[in-house]
Amino acid sequence: MSRSMLTVEVTKQFFTKNKPSFALDLSLAVGPGFTVLTGPSGSGKTTLLRLIAGIIAPDRGRIELASKVLFDSANRIDRPIPGRHVGFVFQNYALFPHMTAVQNVSYGIKSGTRSEKRDKASEMLALLHVDHVALRTPSELSGGEQQRVALARALASEPEIALLDEPLSAVDVETRGKLLDEIEAVQQRSGIPFIYVTHNEAEAERLGQQRITLQNGRVVEAKVSK
Ligand code: ADP
Ligand code: MG
Repeated sequence: MSRSMLTVEVTKQFFTKNKPSFALDLSLAVGPGFTVLTGPSGSGKTTLLRLIAGIIAPDRGRIELASKVLFDSANRIDRPIPGRHVGFVFQNYALFPHMTAVQNVSYGIKSGTRSEKRDKASEMLALLHVDHVALRTPSELSGGEQQRVALARALASEPEIALLDEPLSAVDVETRGKLLDEIEAVQQRSGIPFIYVTHNEAEAERLGQQRITLQNGRVVEAKVSK
């Protein structure tokens, strides 16, 4: 395989009432561009993204992104979330309710002065066509607008990978197509890998040069560009 941006080789066992329940055990490699992550509900898609982002830790294994080790149980490396440079977009937006759109986006930007951060945040909102709602709080936004702001926030931090967990599932069908256009445009602009979780076959077809399918915590199909 040529230059792959993300490699994951991990195991993670969950327990329910002290009994082993779900186990994730997989190895995969993901290159630049879109990788569609599919699989039935409960197959481990969200768990995989949370392991990559550093929200939870594997029991053992190794995760490497752009030649940087994010996690390595053998060498006791577990890089904290901010140092991983991962942009995460959740299914249900997860914006800070008490902050305006532009404050939400500024929050993800680490470097620069206050006004530089604000300018950068405004630029990201404009890129996703929601600059006109910059001063509104999430409760004053439609579902599609909230998801655009969530995308702007995830990408404003200039991540080295974007993880999108069913980002359009709570958005109406009409908005969905347009938002998918924006997501494709932002991916092309950034050039980084996007892991995109979806159950929607039309979305998968459209984005899926690379595809990984999970079943019961394991990879059952991997179509990855060489
Ligand atoms: P998917 O995103 O593919 O629908 P998830 O990764 O959310 O699946 O969940 C995979 C399995 O792991 C499910 O059976 C879920 O109940 C279980 N699970 C997820 N998080 C935890 C946890 N923190 N503790 C115990 N079980 C969990
Ligand atoms: Mg999920």
